[in-house]
Amino acid sequence: MRAVRVEAHGGPEVLVPTEVPEPALGEVDVLVGIESAGVNYIDTYRRSGLYPTPLPTTPGLEGAGVVRAVGRAVTDLVVGDRVAFCDGPGAYAEVAAVPAARCVPVPEGLATELAAAVLLQGMTAHVLVHDTHPVARGETVLVHAGAGGMGLLLCRMASALGATVIATTSTEEKAALARDAGAAHVLGYEGFADEVRALTEGEGVAAVYDGVGATTFDGSLASLRVRGVLALYGAASGPVPPVDPQRLNTAGSVYLTRPSLGWHVRTTAELRDRAAAVLGAVADGALPVRIGGRYPLASAAEAHRDLEGRATTGKLLLVP
Ligand code: NDP
Repeated sequence: MRAVRVEAHGGPEVLVPTEVPEPALGEVDVLVGIESAGVNYIDTYRRSGLYPTPLPTTPGLEGAGVVRAVGRAVTDLVVGDRVAFCDGPGAYAEVAAVPAARCVPVPEGLATELAAAVLLQGMTAHVLVHDTHPVARGETVLVHAGAGGMGLLLCRMASALGATVIATTSTEEKAALARDAGAAHVLGYEGFADEVRALTEGEGVAAVYDGVGATTFDGSLASLRVRGVLALYGAASGPVPPVDPQRLNTAGSVYLTRPSLGWHVRTTAELRDRAAAVLGAVADGALPVRIGGRYPLASAAEAHRDLEGRATTGKLLLVP
């Protein structure tokens, strides 16, 4: 089969399309014929070595497709089922071996491609607005990179919960997408904390959802209201240097947390309940998903270049 392989950490050029044997089918696994694989920022961290990853590897945590074979101990999936998964690795390939317990069924009426596009980011956004800081009607929150894969979903979910959403983006085109997804105000990054104060009559926001990291962290802290929550969930601009806890006191007894999806979907029940909420919302039209680009498997490097180069909006997919 065709798969993308990484032999050594580095830039996008280390993503090399290769012919490899199909993965072995373990007792508790299913073989999934991948129709679409999700491209996620974490794939770039693993590729570059920012997140330690054993090599060689086939990257890609997220994918969706049709079950082609089931392991001997698998009782709840059969050949032909449509499934999605988001804790691969191995999704940048024509076929992936995935533990059945880490697969979620794709609901009837939902395109397989949409399941691949929303499972990981949709569940993360769901965690952020329901668990990390439960968004309350009438409050104001700040979403960085509001036209990105995560950003658009956060704008949609937080505004649907009744919050006033302020988003940041780097271009007018991206600003228009964030507005369309529910952001009431869209700012550039320059001096955003002052503008957030001005928009909130000096109070600041109840929560900042920050997946940008290094370049926004200080401004995010300065944008919070007293006892607000800074949900630092990623590092698109690079990791945040160590923080003196005293800064959380002077910022107004604020809360800093570094949430990650994995800790919220540890069991199969947690995974499938969260997935059902998100995929169900997409299936019934309540949660629109923007696919910003489809790339052939052989162009995985280009997809990473575009994502890291801030050239994309919404979700990127690889199509084997
Ligand atoms: P995005 O589509 O949001 O792409 C990243 C965006 O970040 C860019 O488009 C850009 O938007 C903005 N950005 C600002 N500064 C930079 C910079 N210096 N370099 C690159 N991008 C920059 O990506 P994803 O939706 O895939 O991921 C967003 C974040 O969410 C990532 O940090 C990712 O790690 C995190 N994440 C975390 C999860 C978790 O479990 N904690 C799960 C899923 C994602 P603009 O041009 O408008 O500034």
